[in-house]
Amino acid sequence: MFKKILIANRGEIALRVQRACREMGIKAVMVYSEADRDAKYVRLADEAVCIGPAPSGQSYLNMPAIISAAEVTDAEAIHPGYGFLSENADFAERVERSGFTFIGPTPESIRIMGDKVSAKQAMIRAGVPCVPGSEGALPDDPAVIKKTAKAVGYPVIIKAAGGGGGRGMRVVHTEAALIHAVQTTKAEAAAAFGNPEVYMEKFLQNPRHIEIQVLADTHRNAVYLGERDCSMQRRHQKVIEEAPAPGIPRRLIEKIGDRCAAACKKIGYRGAGTFEFLYENGEFYFIEMNTRVQVEHPVTEWISGIDIVRTQIAVAAGEKLPFTQRQIQLKGHAIECRVNAEDAYKFTPSPGRITTWHMPGGPGVRVDSHAYTNYFVPPNYDSMIGKIIVHGDTREQALARMRTALSECVVEGIKTNIPLHRELMVDASFVAGGTNIHYLEEWLSQRER
Ligand code: ADP
Repeated sequence: MFKKILIANRGEIALRVQRACREMGIKAVMVYSEADRDAKYVRLADEAVCIGPAPSGQSYLNMPAIISAAEVTDAEAIHPGYGFLSENADFAERVERSGFTFIGPTPESIRIMGDKVSAKQAMIRAGVPCVPGSEGALPDDPAVIKKTAKAVGYPVIIKAAGGGGGRGMRVVHTEAALIHAVQTTKAEAAAAFGNPEVYMEKFLQNPRHIEIQVLADTHRNAVYLGERDCSMQRRHQKVIEEAPAPGIPRRLIEKIGDRCAAACKKIGYRGAGTFEFLYENGEFYFIEMNTRVQVEHPVTEWISGIDIVRTQIAVAAGEKLPFTQRQIQLKGHAIECRVNAEDAYKFTPSPGRITTWHMPGGPGVRVDSHAYTNYFVPPNYDSMIGKIIVHGDTREQALARMRTALSECVVEGIKTNIPLHRELMVDASFVAGGTNIHYLEEWLSQRER
C-alpha cells in the first residue's frame, strides 16, 4: 500500500480523500492555492504545498506545480478528486511518466471516454445501449446531415464531441433549422473545446438521468454498485441525487449494470467510474462515462456499505476488489442534497465569510463539507460547499430524515440553497418519485410566477 498520497484538489472532496488516507494509515499531502491557505482541511493535512495564486488556471490546473509538489514531498500517488485535472488524459500521462501512480483509469481510457464520439463507439462495441443517432462525427455534406436527421427522427440534438458541463449542445426541431445549427455548434465547439467535431442524437423528450457506479481492478474484475437517480437538475447541474431510483424495476437495473461491468472488463477499465444514461419508457440510453469519483458517490456508499474512495486507492495500489458482484447487497434508500453558496432562487453566487455554520446530525445523517464557522468561501471556485446525505430503511424514512436534517441547518453570513431543498423535500411530485430531468426547471419557473 502507498505510504503517501498527494491530493490534487480542494474543498469537500479534498477532505473526503484525506479522511480515506487517514483511515488507511496513508500520509496525505494537500496542495492549495493562496485562496485556500487558511482552510482547516489544509491545516489538517500531514503536509501542505502552495501551488499558486487563487485562479485555478494557475493553481489547481497547474500540472508542473502539482507534479513538483509530489516530487518534493515524496508522494507515491496522486488522487485527482473530481473536476479540475481529474479527467485530463495528459495530466494522468504526465503523472505516470514522472513515476507516480495516478489514482484513476489509464490515460487511454480517459482519452477515449473524454471524446463523446469515441466513447459512444466504444460503448456500442461493448454492448451498452446508446441514444440512436449519427454513426460517429457528422460529415460536412449538408445532404448527408439532412438524411441522417431524417433517419433519426426530429427533434434531434447536435452535441460537441469534446463537450462537457452541459455546454456545446443544440436541439433542432425542423430540417429548416438543421444546417445552421450544426454549423453554429461546430464553430462554438472549436472555440470552446478546441475540437470542432459534432455528432447527432435523437432528442429524448422527458427522460430521467440514471447512472451506474462501477468499480474495476487491474485483475480483470469489475462490479457495479447499483444506480443513482440524478434527475433533479438545473442547467444540467445536479442538485439532488438518490439511490435506488424510484420505480425502476430491479431486473432492468441488473441488466444494465451487468452490461456496464462487462464493458469495463472489455475496455480494460480500472478504478471508479460512472456510466450516465438517459432513461425513458423503460429503456436506457448511454450518454457519457465519467472516469473519476463523483460528487454524489456517498449515496451509493451508504446503500452498498462500500467505501468508494478507499477502493479507488486500493485498486490503484494493485489490490484485487475485495468483493464479487454476488456479495454486493444494496440496503435501504439514500438521498443527497448539494449545499451551494448561492441565492436559493436566483442562483447568484454568495461567497464570503460564514459567521454561523451549524450542521445536522443523528441517525442516518452524513455531512461531507470542509466548511465551518468563520470559514471564508472564496469567490474563485465552484459554489458547492458541502453535501448533506441521509439514509433510511425506506425512501419515506430517508425523506423524513432529510426534512429533519435540513430543519436543523443554520448557516449565516452567506446565502445557501438550503431553503430550496426544504421546499423540494415536501414537493408532491418529488415525494412521489420519478420526476424527469426538466422537472426542477419547470418547478422553478412556476414558482417565479
Ligand atoms: P455533458 O458532458 O456536458 O454533461 P451529456 O452528454 O452528459 O453532456 O448531457 C448533459 C445533459 O444534456 C443530459 O443530462 C440531458 O439533460 C441533456 N441531453 C444530452 N443528450 C440528450 C438527448 N439525446 N436527449 C435529451 N437530452 C439530452
